[in-house]
Amino acid sequence: MTTTQAYPIGTPGQKWGEQEKATWRQAQVKKRSYQQEVVAKLEGLSDTFTLVQYGQLDYQEGVYPLYAVKSRQWDENKPTVLVTGGVHGYETSGVQGALRFILTAAEQYSEQVNLVVAPCVSPWGYETINRWNPFAIDPNRSFYADSPAGESAALMALVAELKVKLIAHIDLHETTDTDNSEFRPALAARDNVIQTNWNIPDGFYLVGDSENPCDELQTAIINAVSKVTHIAPADDQGCLIGAPISQFGVINYPTKKLGLCTGFSDATFNTTTEVYPDSPLVDNENCILAQVAVVTSALDYILAQ
Ligand SMILES: [Zn+2]
Repeated sequence: MTTTQAYPIGTPGQKWGEQEKATWRQAQVKKRSYQQEVVAKLEGLSDTFTLVQYGQLDYQEGVYPLYAVKSRQWDENKPTVLVTGGVHGYETSGVQGALRFILTAAEQYSEQVNLVVAPCVSPWGYETINRWNPFAIDPNRSFYADSPAGESAALMALVAELKVKLIAHIDLHETTDTDNSEFRPALAARDNVIQTNWNIPDGFYLVGDSENPCDELQTAIINAVSKVTHIAPADDQGCLIGAPISQFGVINYPTKKLGLCTGFSDATFNTTTEVYPDSPLVDNENCILAQVAVVTSALDYILAQ
């Protein structure tokens, strides 16, 4: 076991204060356009769906309207499914996979379910390729009441306004090589903790909720995704990212306790995807298709129950 490398911001032995967080924020630069790569694609939406703005993030770097796609014909008697992408903005295929699902696959489910898709929960993170928001806060540890992350608070408000018990919530993520080279060292520096480095899993895996593991759903998704991309094998200790697998390609986390996105929504079925984009066996398109396969196979499984 090795510990993560030193991070260039901060003083060893001390947590970051406001000054270190400001230094970190200043070092971030816009690398791609939320408007061009996300918002513009939503113009291709079919009449089956409607675009809603559920919030806005006013940052000194810019103003970010937050968008979700909803079924136009909302029917209280149908089950409601939530799909979220870009809670971690740098995890590209989560955003592009959610968009691809909306534009190519969602239509076929519109008769049976109400759909709500928030494709890019963290647009500043998407543009700057970051895990945190500008205040060095991880939105995916911030899904709880009075959240310090505007990204998380806005999504929770959107879901609360639906006033329904969700049948499913699927949250689309990636695990990348930069988790070990950048984001975990930054976290260790910010909080003055020692991080044990783990091996980045080589392939796709799922994170279920230890309090609501939905084992059969996870199996159905793993089977479907294995036709698109390779599933990550467990390490020598039978773990993925330090957690013991519950079945091939699946670990469980206490999502509520950790403030994870699938924890707040209290859906009957939930899962979080982890696509691995840095494998030589995959490309951007394959990663997007893996995310779409997750959503469609989850819907197929749930509708067959
Ligand atoms: Zn993530």
